[in-house]
Amino acid sequence: MDLYSGHINRLIEELSGLPGIGVKTAQRLAFHLINLPKERVEKFAHAIVDAREHVRYCSQCFTLTDKEICPICANPRRNQKVIMVVENARDLAAYEKTGKYDGVYHVLHGAISPLLGIGPGDIKLKELMVRLQGDVEEVIIATNSSLEGETTAMYISKLIKPTGIKVTRIASGVPVGGDLEYIDEVTLLRALEGRTEL
Ligand code: ZN
Repeated sequence: MDLYSGHINRLIEELSGLPGIGVKTAQRLAFHLINLPKERVEKFAHAIVDAREHVRYCSQCFTLTDKEICPICANPRRNQKVIMVVENARDLAAYEKTGKYDGVYHVLHGAISPLLGIGPGDIKLKELMVRLQGDVEEVIIATNSSLEGETTAMYISKLIKPTGIKVTRIASGVPVGGDLEYIDEVTLLRALEGRTEL
């Protein structure tokens, strides 16, 4: 039985396709949106389309930005010789929130996962190796402590070792399998300060 109109069903379907949104939440969001003033809904819809249209990868660190080079890479006060490797832009945001890291980043956009068929060529690893041809003193590997994150960390360290650049791994104070973005700033800072050389 079709309870709602086709339009509402379509909206619920789109919303439930988002990460972490089940059918029940999608229904709640759909009805919330429908009850908003029309201008609010239009603003919201435009924000989605505009973001999709204008946001791209920073040409240096591959985080999401709307400029050729992101504000972090473009900041002359950041130490370009220290590169922290993270899995995604959310992890970068988590470290930025600590306000204590003054190096730059490299966003892999994923992690190596043989199970899911994600290999080294599917993440921004080649791009990292290109950056390392410049003047780099340390690469801090801050991938998650999940199986995929650890696999990726091992792979990267093996790749970098022959170059003579110092490779460190954040301390394992970060809960196993924990997504970095859900970890508080103190824990992140401790993990960063307690990093060990690989
Ligand atoms: Zn950047």
